[in-house]
Amino acid sequence: MKYFDHAATTPPHEDVIRTVAEVMAQHFGNPSSLHRSGEDSGKLLSKAREVCANALQVSPEEIIFTSGATESNNMAIRGVLAGYRHRGNHIVTTSIEHPSVYETCRHLEKQGCKVAYVPAQADGTVRTEDVLSAIKEDTVLVSVMHVNNETGAVQPIAEIGQALKKLYPRVMFHVDGVQGFGKLPLSIRDSRIDLYSLSAHKFRGPKGIGLLYVREGVSLEPLLTGGGQEGGLRSGTENIPYIVGMAKAVRLAAERQPFLAEHLARLNEELSEGLQRLTGLEMNSSRHGAPHIVHFSCPGLKAETMLHMLEEEGFLVSTQSACSSKRSEPSRVLLAMERQMDCALSGIRISLGEEHTEEDVRQLLSAIEHTMGRLQRLKGGNC
Ligand code: PMP
Repeated sequence: MKYFDHAATTPPHEDVIRTVAEVMAQHFGNPSSLHRSGEDSGKLLSKAREVCANALQVSPEEIIFTSGATESNNMAIRGVLAGYRHRGNHIVTTSIEHPSVYETCRHLEKQGCKVAYVPAQADGTVRTEDVLSAIKEDTVLVSVMHVNNETGAVQPIAEIGQALKKLYPRVMFHVDGVQGFGKLPLSIRDSRIDLYSLSAHKFRGPKGIGLLYVREGVSLEPLLTGGGQEGGLRSGTENIPYIVGMAKAVRLAAERQPFLAEHLARLNEELSEGLQRLTGLEMNSSRHGAPHIVHFSCPGLKAETMLHMLEEEGFLVSTQSACSSKRSEPSRVLLAMERQMDCALSGIRISLGEEHTEEDVRQLLSAIEHTMGRLQRLKGGNC
């Protein structure tokens, strides 16, 4: 089986697996304990925080460990809203965010908050001026993802952050960095980001662990209260093996980013060009998108059927994104890009990884061509 679903999750790096196993076996102390076993775990925790901070070029005190980006995104949005409730209750976000941002905003709306969802253009990006013009007197937070998890569209984060802070310095800026980290460069400081979310399993780390960068000076109310770990922002005994495993993955991903991006971009170009030559297929990812994601629709054909037929040929791909692929609903992201319903119902996402070769891409292309041909014949040539 060839795994082409790296945007859903990545195979953990062998060094990460080894590190997690070693730490789990040998350093099980609770960092809050006063004895030497606790101290030993506390040292690992500090070192991991330092490694993550170095990779992101921020300070260790600005890194909060969480259970993943769903928690980081919730913590950033709900935490800022509660921390700055005296300033207002208006959020500006986009119509193409991951559900962990989008549904959180929808939930907050039910509780009386107001949310502006900035629309996407046909290429899947939002315009900086549209984000800025949605800001009102009582806006406390702008939340925009770096790379869209379905289409790979790259949002103008540095441009938005710099313009935002120039015009509205008091408005907080949150970025869901999950699909961009390790694939594209992004400077948290230069982009004037206040809060930045990551999930380790998207860059070859363990699942169920992530982080939230919180710029020093940002006032955040915690989601979880209890023992006061993570500077009081995230109570609960720290998962030291996964935190150390994530630190290893963060360091590897930051070091290898330029090489990985170049490798993935080459494969992406070959795959996209090959797909464009096929009939009955509409591309949703663009040349300017993230290097690991290729996305297309085959209007009139059922994406799920196509996925299973490709699986029979030995290729694992995705319909929409992993979080929504179990529902056969049209893609909210594709509809936001003003695609037709039959296009929004038939999206296929291919996401590339380090292990793929040009030969893998050629084989995948011929499997897609073959599968589409079979499906079109089954439908009487009606694609
Ligand atoms: N944001 C984006 C853009 C994602 O792709 C994902 C994972 N699909 C998340 C947030 C949530 O990450 P997790 O499921 O690891 O909490």
